[in-house]
Amino acid sequence: PVRGRAVGDSDCIFCKIINREIPSDIVYEDDDVLVFPDINPVAPVHLLIITRKHIPSLSVMDEEDTPLIGKMAKIANRLAREKGLDSGYRVTINSGPDGGQLVPHLHMHLLGGRKLRWEN
Ligand code: 5GP
Ligand code: ZN
Repeated sequence: PVRGRAVGDSDCIFCKIINREIPSDIVYEDDDVLVFPDINPVAPVHLLIITRKHIPSLSVMDEEDTPLIGKMAKIANRLAREKGLDSGYRVTINSGPDGGQLVPHLHMHLLGGRKLRWEN
């Protein structure tokens, strides 16, 4: 079911995914978050868990929104279990240019399905 539009930014690629202006294979959504596969996966399982609200990065998150991080982590954990990532997985939030953030809309990567190295 479509749960309503992004609280967002009309130029933002992830807001466009929320609003179905850009297609993606949404695997989960609720009133706060959506989950879909990364278009350029770096692991056999590579999902993006994004906030419905357009929050540009972790570094500018309002205090009232911080519970969303816990919710995203809980969803990541559940999806990891559903995907059979029994030997482990990684969740990552990139923030800012040095953190490798490319899309300025808060998101958590869920990576798994291979042995992950700590790069850089
Ligand atoms: P960041 O580098 O900001 O932490 O991660 C952004 C991620 O979004 C990248 O891994 C990139 O592959 C993914 N991405 C960018 N554009 C799209 C898109 O249009 N659809 C999907 N599914 N993923 C995207
Ligand atoms: Zn956005």
